Amino acid sequence: MTDTAARPSETATRADVTTFGHFIAGEWCDGVSGATFESRNPADTRELVGRFQQGSAADVGMAIRAAEAALPMWRRTPAPKRGEVLYRFGALMAEHKERLAQAMTREMGKVIAEARGDVQEGIDIAFLMAGEGRRMFGDTVPSELPDKWAMSIRQPIGIAGIITPWNFPIAIPCWKMMPALVAGNTVVFKPASDTPHCAALLVELMAEAGFPAGTVNLVTGAGAEVGNAIVESPDVGVVSFTGASATGKGIAERAGRRLKRLSLELGGKNAIVVLADADLDLATDGILWSAFGTTGQRCTAASRVVVERPVLDELLARLESRASRLRLGRGEDPATDVGPLISAAAVEKVAGYVAIGRDEGELITGGAAANGGDLAHGHFFEPTIFSNVKPMDRIAQEEIFGPVLSIVPVGSYDEAVTVVNQTRYGLSSSVFTRDANAAFRAMRDFETGLVYVNAGTIGAETHLPFGGWKETGNGHREAGHAALDTYTEWKSIYVDFSGRLQRAQIDNQ
Ligand code: NDP
Repeated sequence: MTDTAARPSETATRADVTTFGHFIAGEWCDGVSGATFESRNPADTRELVGRFQQGSAADVGMAIRAAEAALPMWRRTPAPKRGEVLYRFGALMAEHKERLAQAMTREMGKVIAEARGDVQEGIDIAFLMAGEGRRMFGDTVPSELPDKWAMSIRQPIGIAGIITPWNFPIAIPCWKMMPALVAGNTVVFKPASDTPHCAALLVELMAEAGFPAGTVNLVTGAGAEVGNAIVESPDVGVVSFTGASATGKGIAERAGRRLKRLSLELGGKNAIVVLADADLDLATDGILWSAFGTTGQRCTAASRVVVERPVLDELLARLESRASRLRLGRGEDPATDVGPLISAAAVEKVAGYVAIGRDEGELITGGAAANGGDLAHGHFFEPTIFSNVKPMDRIAQEEIFGPVLSIVPVGSYDEAVTVVNQTRYGLSSSVFTRDANAAFRAMRDFETGLVYVNAGTIGAETHLPFGGWKETGNGHREAGHAALDTYTEWKSIYVDFSGRLQRAQIDNQ
C-alpha cells in the first residue's frame, strides 16, 4: 500500500490529477493491484469525473485490519463524545452542501435540487444520530426480587460492512454509517462503482470532522470482488446493504452461512391509489414527482397508479399533458425536470420493458430513449406512461428503475387494495382521497413499510423508520432510532445487592 493518491478535494480541482485512492487507516492510498476504473458523467459521458482504485480482497483485508485496530478505542469512547464527531460532520456537510450536490449531479445525474435534498438527508441523519449518542436508550426495569436491579444496554457489534447503491450516493451511506459509528462500531465502506467520487468526498469530510484513523475505511471497486470480500469476512460482524433484490438475496445466502447480522433494503414496485373523490391536481403533482423524480430511479419511486375508473380519463389527460412537457437535460440546469439514467445498461433495460409494455398496455406518452441535441452523449429516456395495464402484467410487477409508469384502472377501493398488495415488494404506497375513512383504511390495509396520504410515494424523513415489507427487505429498518437495532447487540444486566443467593422464578413465589 502506498499513499501517493491525492486527497479528493485536491484531485477534484486539479485537471491533471484524476486518480482517487482508497481511504484506509486514515490515509488515502492506492490499491494493491494498481488497477483503476473510471467514473463518467451520465448526462455527457465524454466528461470524466475521475479514476478510482479497482479494489481487491487484499485491500478489503487491510481495511478490515484498520477497522479492527481502531475498534477498542472507538467502542470505549463515550457515546456522547462519538456523537460530537457526528455533529461536526453534519455541520461540515452543511458547509459543503452545494459542492457535494454539484459533484453528485455531475456523477450520477439527478437534478440539482434533488441532489441538495440527498445531501440534506445526510446532514439530517448525522444530527439525529449525533443526538443518539446522548440517548441510545435501553430499559431499566424493576426486578422481581428485592435488592436487585435489571437493565439492558446496547453495545456495538464490531466492524460494520456498508455496501451502497448509486441512486442516493450521500444519503444512503450516511443512513448506514451514522448509526453504525455512533453505536461504537468501525466501518468498511464500499460504495457503488457508479458513484465513487461522492463516496470519496464524503469520507474526506468524515476525516476532517475528526473520526479517528481506522474508524471509517473506504474501499472502491467491483461488488463481486470488494463487496463479496466484506460479506465473506468472518471479522465483519454486520453488513448493511442497499441495492437490487437479486444482489441482496445472494448476499443473504452468504451472510446466512456465517450467521452474520444483515440489513437489506432492496427493490420496490410502489403504487399510488387515486380514489374517485381525490383532488386530481394534487394527485397529478404527486404522481409526476414520484414517478419521474430522480428519473424513476428511487426505491420509493411510484411505478404504478391504481385509479378508480370514474376519474381515469380526467387523470390520464392531466398526466399526459404534464409528462410530455417535462424537460430532459443536465441536472445542473435549473430548468431541467428529468436528468439522465445512470448508464447505457439502464437505458437498455428500460427500453426492454417499454417494448414489453407496448404489448401489455396502451402507450400514452414517451416510450423512447432521448438523444437529440444536447442529450446526444447522455443516457436519457423519455418519461413514459402506459394505461390499461393489468395488475399481473410484467410492467406492473417487475422493478424497472426508470421513468416508466403503469396505470391500472380499478372498480372499487377493495380492488385497489388487492392490486396495491399484489406484488412481492412492500416499500411505499400512497392514497389520494378526500374521505378520511378511506384514508384510514388505506393506512391499515396497504402492506408497505411507508404509507403516504395525499402525497406521493417519496419523501421519507430521517427520524422515522425506513424500510419495506416482504421482499423489499429482511425486517431491518434504516433511520429513526430503529436503525440502531442493526448495529447493536443487546446486553441485559442484573445487579443483585441483597448479599444472598436469590433465585429468579423460584425465590419470589
Ligand atoms: P446493485 O445491487 O447492483 O448494487 C448495489 C451495491 O452492491 C453496489 O455497491 C454494488 O457494487 C454492490 N454489489 C454488487 N454485486 C455484489 C456482490 N456480489 N456482493 C456484494 N456487493 C455487491 O444495485 P444498484 O446499485 O443497481 O441499485 C439499484 C437497486 O437498489 C434497485 O433495485 C433499487 O430498488 C435498490 N434500492 C433500494 C433502496 C431501498 O432502500 N429499498 C434504496 C435505493 C436503491 P458495484 O456498484 O461495484 O456493482
